[in-house]
Amino acid sequence: MNASLHPWNDGIWQRLTGLRAQLPHALLLHGRAGLGKLALAERFAQLLLCEQPQAGGSVACGQCPSCHWMGQGSHPDFCKLQPAVFDEDDAADGAEPAERKSAAAGQQISVAQIRSLNEFVHLSTHRGGRRVALIHPAEAMNSAAANALLKTLEEPPAQVVLLLVSHQASRLLPTILSRCHQLRFTLPDQTEALAWLKQHKVQHAAASLAQAGGAPLLAQQLSEADYQARRQAFLTGLLHVSVADSLRLAEQHAKQNMVELIHWLQQWQHDLLSLQLTGQLRYQVDFDSQLRAIAGRANLTRLLAFERRLQAARASAQHPLNPQMVLEDVLLEYANLFV
Ligand SMILES: [Zn+2]
Repeated sequence: MNASLHPWNDGIWQRLTGLRAQLPHALLLHGRAGLGKLALAERFAQLLLCEQPQAGGSVACGQCPSCHWMGQGSHPDFCKLQPAVFDEDDAADGAEPAERKSAAAGQQISVAQIRSLNEFVHLSTHRGGRRVALIHPAEAMNSAAANALLKTLEEPPAQVVLLLVSHQASRLLPTILSRCHQLRFTLPDQTEALAWLKQHKVQHAAASLAQAGGAPLLAQQLSEADYQARRQAFLTGLLHVSVADSLRLAEQHAKQNMVELIHWLQQWQHDLLSLQLTGQLRYQVDFDSQLRAIAGRANLTRLLAFERRLQAARASAQHPLNPQMVLEDVLLEYANLFV
């Protein structure tokens, strides 16, 4: 069994386990989504809590009570914080309904969650060893939550390890960054990523990996048939869109996930621009010939403006006030690229 779960993370795993003799009290595992940071952080937490680590202390035994509890997701000395929307135990944790609702809406880690973590780290340990708290993704902490965490980061209780996982470390407070030992995850090279995807029977591995910007776990997710069907239906609609069509296309897709739609449009725009400037495309490789056929007709100035328009749409895509109107607006601008 691979110690780090994913072969491209072997180097990071070795660096992590190498830190065990003089363990920092806070670690930040960061890098883009889809590389296995959370899985690695959970595996490391299991190792830190394992009562009989093997292989010179670098692998959890998988047998002791501690490992068993980790497997069940019920270790009393392990605490994992995620945005409330993902946290099914939230109601049981006693969060106020109002807070739960707003946390879910913003997909944030709330100050109440950090306060419960602060209490957790100050309790005495159940098994006489360490206590480990995992925050994922750390950038989901709102500013009140981040400030509440600082207290624990500044005066960490002995035997407590904080593992922060972040897809966008640049969004964390400098005061948090400066108190964490940082480990950055990097993309595997393409050959290694493709080999892994093929080994895991991922269909259309190369196309999915391109869409995922090279991140293998994201590629695995993107290869799911439903996702590809949604994506292809939408992108096919973009091939022939006229100003008149754009309203119809917006209506057809208005009930879909806006984040997903805008993301596809951003990749589409990037490929159109890149084809015009360099003759290469990067993301929608399964639409290569169709994109090449239309790229030359797009107005370059408008294409650049469209990029900024999509960035703005992306920023509000989590909660658009009126999804259909946003989509109509964006698709109308898209259609105008080719007028
Ligand atoms: Zn164990």
